[in-house]
Amino acid sequence: MNQLFDRSKAKIICYSMDIIFLCIHFLMLYIFASNDVSPMVKFNIFSITFYACSLLAIRFDFLRFFIIASYMEILLHMTLAIIYTGWGNGFQITIIGINSLAFFAEYVGRSLRGKYVPAAPLGILGMILYIFSYIFVYKNGVLYPLSDKTSFFLQIMWALVVFLILIACLYLFTLLSFHSARLLSIAATKDKLTELPNRYHITKYEKEYLSPDRWIALADIDDFKKINDTYGHNFGDFVLKKLAELMQKELKHTDICRWGGEEFLIIGNGKNIDKAFKELDNFRKTIEEFTFAEGDTETRLTITIGLASYKQDISMTEWINIADKKLYAGKYSGKNQVIQ
Ligand code: GH3
Ligand code: MG
Ligand code: MG
Repeated sequence: MNQLFDRSKAKIICYSMDIIFLCIHFLMLYIFASNDVSPMVKFNIFSITFYACSLLAIRFDFLRFFIIASYMEILLHMTLAIIYTGWGNGFQITIIGINSLAFFAEYVGRSLRGKYVPAAPLGILGMILYIFSYIFVYKNGVLYPLSDKTSFFLQIMWALVVFLILIACLYLFTLLSFHSARLLSIAATKDKLTELPNRYHITKYEKEYLSPDRWIALADIDDFKKINDTYGHNFGDFVLKKLAELMQKELKHTDICRWGGEEFLIIGNGKNIDKAFKELDNFRKTIEEFTFAEGDTETRLTITIGLASYKQDISMTEWINIADKKLYAGKYSGKNQVIQ
């Protein structure tokens, strides 16, 4: 998953939730006791015991169990609270609000590739209990009415709790989605071996690159297959990485991308094509004189480059094709040269 979340962070969230739920239940115990709602007093003693034991479940990593069991406890608590004390104390909004927690838990579970919380069935169960408790109160009236002051306090408290849960979950969702999309975009436009941008990067910035103030060049290692065949694929990889490093170091103010295999696309700034030619030819000479060495293995190599200046109304593909044709002209006329 995107590194923003891991199991230990999920565990910290579960611990925090457990402590918050414990505090809320102590408060509810006090409220129900002072309003003589005896069935809810009993239920809250059960809930407090449940959340105290849940600390152990979290400690032993039963996070999914903790989330599902807490969800059930909240559903049951709120349904009973509505049935006994009526619709006017705000208990019902928690049944709606905790959906965000369940879906967030499912998202985290799926992302951590573990067993996850099935949020949709829990949400449907919540919907059924919500409607059931409304019909129950409508038909039977309020069995244990709370004082006006308590109802006023509860309405405000549940509004705060539910909004804070919703805002926290939706904010985390937004953050995680944005982070994942950014990581995907970087991964999709970056070559893993050389860490240079890949050809999708060019497609992405095509409009910016397609300009009369730029030149492009395609560079290709000469007889690279022989290097692979002689020293092995791993050494070939090392050569590609080293060459990418040298290109970035030597060809200042250019954008370089791994176009494919042992081919690199260079996008330079400036209209002066002769200056670009000189810069590329100097680089070609640097590579010709450079020794690629790793451990006991070392080799020299050469590169051929096709350079193309911008032409009016050209497309990026056409432009790259021109550079490619020049590169192949260089290959067929002896290699180790820059063709303009
Ligand atoms: P030319 O001078 O005509 O360019 O000959 P060449 O041998 O360089 O070109 P050819 O297209 O015949 O072979 C390119 C080789 O590059 C073949 C392929 O196995 C190798 N290659 C492509 N990508 C990689 C890579 O990521 N790592 C390694 N080690 N080799 C690669
Ligand atoms: Mg080659
Ligand atoms: Mg090639």
